[in-house]
Amino acid sequence: GRLVGATAEGEELAAEAALRPKDLAEFVGQPKVREQLDLVLRAARARGGTADHVLLSGAPGLGKTTLSMIIAAEMGAPIRITSGPAIQHAGDLAAILSSLAEGEVLFLDEIHRMSRPAEEMLYMAMEDFRVDVIVGKGPGATAIPLELPPFTLVGATTRAGLLPPPLRDRFGFTGHMEFYAPAELERVIHRSARLLDVTVSDGGAAEIAGRSRGTPRIANRLLRRVRDYAQVRGDGVVTEEAAARALTVFEVDDRGLDRLDRSVLEALLKLFGGGPVGLSTLAVAVGEERETVEEVAEPFLVREGLLARTPRGRVATPAAWAHLGLTPPPGTPA
Ligand code: ATP
Repeated sequence: GRLVGATAEGEELAAEAALRPKDLAEFVGQPKVREQLDLVLRAARARGGTADHVLLSGAPGLGKTTLSMIIAAEMGAPIRITSGPAIQHAGDLAAILSSLAEGEVLFLDEIHRMSRPAEEMLYMAMEDFRVDVIVGKGPGATAIPLELPPFTLVGATTRAGLLPPPLRDRFGFTGHMEFYAPAELERVIHRSARLLDVTVSDGGAAEIAGRSRGTPRIANRLLRRVRDYAQVRGDGVVTEEAAARALTVFEVDDRGLDRLDRSVLEALLKLFGGGPVGLSTLAVAVGEERETVEEVAEPFLVREGLLARTPRGRVATPAAWAHLGLTPPPGTPA
């Protein structure tokens, strides 16, 4: 949990699990992916077979894990959840694959971060439902073919383009998850509020939705913090005003920028006159790791049109100056 350090990670995970939609009908938004998946799953069910492998691409928190669980539920199949980085050796993958039940869904998060040998083993498993288990080392090593029951691989990645084409091509269907529109996030918030037994006004839901960066995970997290605020400082009802005040306390501004985003922007504007400045310099200025600035703060700032990555370094846009209420120095291109 990046928003509020004081909240234990375990509590966050449990809270997330409780808010997961259980079937496609409950899943808010993503109309394209929902329609496509509905067709794929219905057809597989009608054939009495196992669904084709599914690749889900999209930013963190858009519902890839949730969709994989829904796929399993809709197919009446069990699900196994693991991730690319957790699979170090091809043997790790062989152990998982050989223990799958027929029709089981294997969810592989961050599939682009799997090791090369594991990836190659996966090609054959996906295509022929077979793996070669290598026994022994050196010239005496032998490959023992092992038949696998048919299964459905659901791979998740932040960008489908990160996958090597031979892996990408082995998926029967790729669902591209988009950021959610504010109205969709409002529905997510109203739904979650019902499950959490919190009263939220339409204005309250809109206020939270507008600061949630198009991401249901963030919407749910902000809702829980606003609920805390309303419970302690108000009558428990999440109104527009309560939401705005609560999110000010938790340092989420009206555009959804949090403390890290704002400190990156402020450094860029106040210390470097809006840039261009190198990533490393910017990271040192805000006291963060390069990766944190690049992978956590920047994608959102770029998407919001507040920051641009140029060959000469990071540059603030006119919108960034406006958002922080600062005046760009004379000569700044508008
Ligand atoms: P990551 O890639 O970071 O693991 P993810 O894309 O797998 O993220 P999920 O864990 O599936 O995201 O979803 C995050 C939270 O958002 C969950 O608590 C889930 O309840 C909620 N959520 C996601 N999508 C939806 C949706 N379409 N409708 C309602 N709630 C959703």
